[in-house]
Amino acid sequence: MKKIIVATKNQGKVREMITAFKDLDVELHSLSEFGALPDAVEDGMTFAENALKKASFYAKETNCACLADDSGLEIDVLDGAPGIYSARFAGYHADDAANNRKMVDELAKKDVTSSRAHYVCALAFVDTDGSVLECEGRCTGQIRNFAKGDGGFGYDPYFYLPQLDKTMAQITLAEKNAVSHRGAALRNMENLLRGYLK
Ligand code: IMP
Repeated sequence: MKKIIVATKNQGKVREMITAFKDLDVELHSLSEFGALPDAVEDGMTFAENALKKASFYAKETNCACLADDSGLEIDVLDGAPGIYSARFAGYHADDAANNRKMVDELAKKDVTSSRAHYVCALAFVDTDGSVLECEGRCTGQIRNFAKGDGGFGYDPYFYLPQLDKTMAQITLAEKNAVSHRGAALRNMENLLRGYLK
């Protein structure tokens, strides 16, 4: 059984990955099992670069194969912003409410009430011998300047899915996994890992 460290202290993400890879011969562990470790520097220009930086850094720190993700929201009318800055759109310690307010303000500055937008999730796997697997998942929808629903997190109440006539905050976690960027990226990585572990 292959031991893989998930480069996150977020137990929700670890559980999501355990479910996604349940049919693979892997054993997933969270970074929190390793006690105090330095933070990886995420200074890449893309989601993929940041995921790879994190996975490489923690593969070295733990001497185990490591899987890392980086995700965020790209809004067409804002030329792809907030992008890799999604978690801190409104500043370094900004919370979801502040980021959403900033997003609504930026739409207003462009004189629009909505825009096509994409959630993106990049995943990178780095093994101890330097082998790398990389993939991405995307989910396209509509960002609107008003919130609906109280599920999900981050930008979800503003992210409308026309095919479901609901926002990401109005659907169950299982429904979200079926359509989301993270769900798509995890399915892609499951396929890559299945080939790699053969
Ligand atoms: P992380 O890479 O998972 O830490 O996500 C970075 C940021 O992107 C989050 O803080 C959110 O602002 C945004 N984001 C990523 N995925 C989602 C999602 O599924 N829903 C809402 N916001 C998201």
